[in-house]
Amino acid sequence: MSRGRDVPTLVARAREGDARSVARLISLVEDGAPELPAVAAALAPYAGTAQVVGLTGSPGVGKSTTTNELVRALRKAGHRVGVLAVDPSSPFTGGAILGDRIRMQEHTTDPEVYIRSMSSRGQLGGLAAATPQAVRVLEGAGCDVIVVETVGVGQAEVEIASLADTTLVLLAPGMGDAIQAVKAGILEIADVFVVNKADRPGADATYRDIQGMLALGERGPGEWRPQVVRAVAVRNEGIDDVVAAIEKHRGWLTKTGELRKRHERRAAVEVEAIALGTLRARMGSVRDGTGLGTLAAKVAAGELDPYAAADELLKSL
Ligand code: GDP
Repeated sequence: MSRGRDVPTLVARAREGDARSVARLISLVEDGAPELPAVAAALAPYAGTAQVVGLTGSPGVGKSTTTNELVRALRKAGHRVGVLAVDPSSPFTGGAILGDRIRMQEHTTDPEVYIRSMSSRGQLGGLAAATPQAVRVLEGAGCDVIVVETVGVGQAEVEIASLADTTLVLLAPGMGDAIQAVKAGILEIADVFVVNKADRPGADATYRDIQGMLALGERGPGEWRPQVVRAVAVRNEGIDDVVAAIEKHRGWLTKTGELRKRHERRAAVEVEAIALGTLRARMGSVRDGTGLGTLAAKVAAGELDPYAAADELLKSL
């Protein structure tokens, strides 16, 4: 039996809670396997059933500690939880990153928790393309909350975080984080700020900095005002407040219709990326001397102008 025909079985098993099938499906996603369209088709009915919580922040700010405590709190509340740990800056494969995640190990034997590190092994478009599909897999597996943890250092993280319904930005005192957050455009994507390591000196200053910046931002009536929560993740302090802020945001998303809008925007990005990938593949290339390659040679030789060449290329598709 080909792997392709296995897909419906894999999805059915994943729905029953079989962790190995979930893992196989996510590997297919990571590898950009040819079965991807079949996987996506089988998962389509479950779209939008989970709350996707993005969690980002600089290295060392306490992301994995906080995620671990969040998972504990969410499990206590009866949720089935998925965790995708995404590190766009790491060249390692999933296994290598997972080895570092010792703090998560208490949850690895819990059948209601799926934890997975993501790498962009084969995916065209890298993790930004693979992560939404992995979220779909976890949704299909019946997770009602999915935490997507990324290292907040650049554009890729902002993109990945923007696939979340609710984005948490973690800061810690004394890291110049508040300023960095503004620079990286992270302030705009945050629905909830967590000032972690509130046991450390300077936490109050960081808290005030963020509140000050938020006060400057203009917000229309009914718009969400980002919440700022203090936490000491290593001592499990403030985690209930984080969960409460996530729930409050979920309520706002649902009440205002913003949830549906966010899902539609996200789907548009996904569809566009897939369509562009297909187009690009059909265009041919300079390397194999087809389509685009042939036209490029003519443009370079001055036989054709680039606009006419682009028209010709589009007509040929
Ligand atoms: P990540 O790199 O963002 O995932 O950060 P980690 O969760 O690995 O935490 C980095 C370090 O900070 C670890 O040594 C944690 O034990 C420590 N840490 C995490 N949360 C807190 C906290 O609330 N207070 C203090 N003092 N240390 C913390």
